[in-house]
Amino acid sequence: LERTLSIIKPDAVERNLVGAIFARLEQQKFRLVAIKMLHLTKEQAEGFYAEHQGKEFFADLVNYMISAPVVVSVLENENAIKNYRTFMGATDPAAAEIGTLRYEFALSKRQNSVHGSDSAESAAREIAYFFADSELC
Ligand code: ATP
Ligand code: MG
Repeated sequence: LERTLSIIKPDAVERNLVGAIFARLEQQKFRLVAIKMLHLTKEQAEGFYAEHQGKEFFADLVNYMISAPVVVSVLENENAIKNYRTFMGATDPAAAEIGTLRYEFALSKRQNSVHGSDSAESAAREIAYFFADSELC
């Protein structure tokens, strides 16, 4: 079994979509391993998205990620990393397939409602970024 890190981003939390998104994740047979809500600090958001430091959208991305609380969770299934990326849909909701979370919920390329780890290495780093081993059920 594989695990991935999900973030329900500020735009979705602010619009009361946390329950709707978790309902879909459970329907899609992801097991919830851990969940917490937090309001990221600037330092936490910059560290999380360190791979994008220097890109033209970085400052706006960090400001958006700290604009309201987020809900971070760990999801598990046979192929969780790829399955969740597929279920999220494209970064830009205009390009997201029907039935994906971003097709249904995202507002824009930046305010795109969810994050998911993009590789096994990212998943390991991102899960450890938010959760202690003792918090993973
Ligand atoms: P995430 O890493 O959040 O799962 P992703 O892997 O689909 O999304 P990345 O290329 O890693 O996309 O970009 C990280 C986040 O930065 C995007 O989800 C989006 O919120 C924001 N972002 C990326 N590109 C742009 C852009 N051109 N304009 C505005 N925001 C952007
Ligand atoms: Mg990414």
